[in-house]
Amino acid sequence: MSEKTISLDQFRKKREEAKAQEELEPFEGCLVWLHCPNCQKIEYTEVRAPGGRTHRCGTKVEEVEVFLDLRAELSFTLENLKTIEAHLLEVGQNRLKKLLARSLEKTLLQLKASEEEYASRLQKAGGGRVVPYPQETQPLVERFAEVQINPLGLYVTPFRLEPHKRFPNNTKEPS
Ligand SMILES: [Zn+2]
Repeated sequence: MSEKTISLDQFRKKREEAKAQEELEPFEGCLVWLHCPNCQKIEYTEVRAPGGRTHRCGTKVEEVEVFLDLRAELSFTLENLKTIEAHLLEVGQNRLKKLLARSLEKTLLQLKASEEEYASRLQKAGGGRVVPYPQETQPLVERFAEVQINPLGLYVTPFRLEPHKRFPNNTKEPS
């Protein structure tokens, strides 16, 4: 009689393993770094243009397509947003150094906007179906050792690290 019980247990175990596997399945996607050699402007987009494209100044844009795990990028960005919110709360409570607090707050709000923009581009790149990794299974930083942490405690994934280095012909770093 125990045979059936065992196979049921095994079935359940297999199903749980499959579910755990699925929870850690990457969502492959593509983002593109763009560089205008005339304006020296560097930006990213989720829109691929295999035929190339022209900047509004009329110059043909240099493009580097980067294939990445949208889930990982989104997960780190959502963590960054939490960290930024925590910093904003701290700054809001700091009534003594008002001038410093105000400039820091401005910086944090800019960072927040850029993280939100990144999250929205990632969703567009993934057709709105990108889900962050569950953090309980394994901390993100353990899985993605190549990710750096900046002085504000924000994660910088390889895609966003020093994009100007992807364009050897550019002459200045992005502002
Ligand atoms: Zn241009």
